Amino acid sequence: MKNIVLFGPPGAGKGTQAEIIKDSYNLFHISTGDVFRYNIKNNTSLGILAKQYMDKGELVPDEVTIEMLNKVVINNLDSNGFIFDGFPRTTSQAISLDKLMTSNNTNISAMIALEVDDSILISRLIKRGQTSGRADDSNEAIIKNRINEYYKKTAILKEYYQEKDRYFGINGEGQIEEISLRLKQVIDSL
Ligand code: AMP
Repeated sequence: MKNIVLFGPPGAGKGTQAEIIKDSYNLFHISTGDVFRYNIKNNTSLGILAKQYMDKGELVPDEVTIEMLNKVVINNLDSNGFIFDGFPRTTSQAISLDKLMTSNNTNISAMIALEVDDSILISRLIKRGQTSGRADDSNEAIIKNRINEYYKKTAILKEYYQEKDRYFGINGEGQIEEISLRLKQVIDSL
């Protein structure tokens, strides 16, 4: 199994690239943000809980997110591998993901980070907000809070995967196609 963590701040292009990469390598794409949004749309208890945090640009609590992620992985273990988009976002999520992989006789092959300048992130998210209908994309204060959360709680995961020699950073700026090519070069080298 090839299991890839696609990493980067909000607006780095993880969702866009994950959709391309999943088709090229026949991987199962898990976006925790998409799963939460699906639950919000369907008014489930998970959605109602997650919405309180997402609308403010804060992370949903670990226990809730981890349990949800575990279920999606366990239901799709027959796939060629996973592409994780938006998970893990905290050290405790990363530790639990390792445990989940080990208990299923596999591991995380790589964390690949899309490196993008903050000023580009904000303008990309504001632009996306004009069409995405996402409440958390439509307000600059919420966008800034999401980027803040990333630097406070998530950015540290670079070191977590570097220590395991599993971290790869690529330039996430430029045309979508050229960024995909950079990603594929890393994946092919694994
Ligand atoms: P995203 O679609 O990845 O930009 O995520 C949108 C929002 O969903 C985030 O701002 C968080 O509120 C929530 N979320 C998504 N993934 C996670 C995660 N792994 N841990 C906690 N909250 C998450």
